[in-house]
Amino acid sequence: MSCICDFCSGPEVKWRYPAKTFLAYITDSIAGESLGDWAACTKCHDLIERDDRAGLASWSIESLIAVHPEMAEIKEDLLREMAVLHHSFFDSRTGQVLQFE
Ligand SMILES: [Zn+2]
Repeated sequence: MSCICDFCSGPEVKWRYPAKTFLAYITDSIAGESLGDWAACTKCHDLIERDDRAGLASWSIESLIAVHPEMAEIKEDLLREMAVLHHSFFDSRTGQVLQFE
């Protein structure tokens, strides 16, 4: 459980999505285990609640590229990988979204 948005790394975490832990690999540099619940900012929460998975993936990648501009070259690959990761997230959800305290 991080204190930044698990989808876009934004600092304003307002929501918590209960989820099971699962193994997740994005790229060699961003890899690892998704441990339990996912934190979400309001923008990502809106996308999740609208089930706008394409929008969520592209917003996550835009945010990632803003921090790592060199990754723009592999944007299409990242988008595909992010969609897979988010698919695992949606599959791993264990309950209703909770508001952060
Ligand atoms: Zn976010």
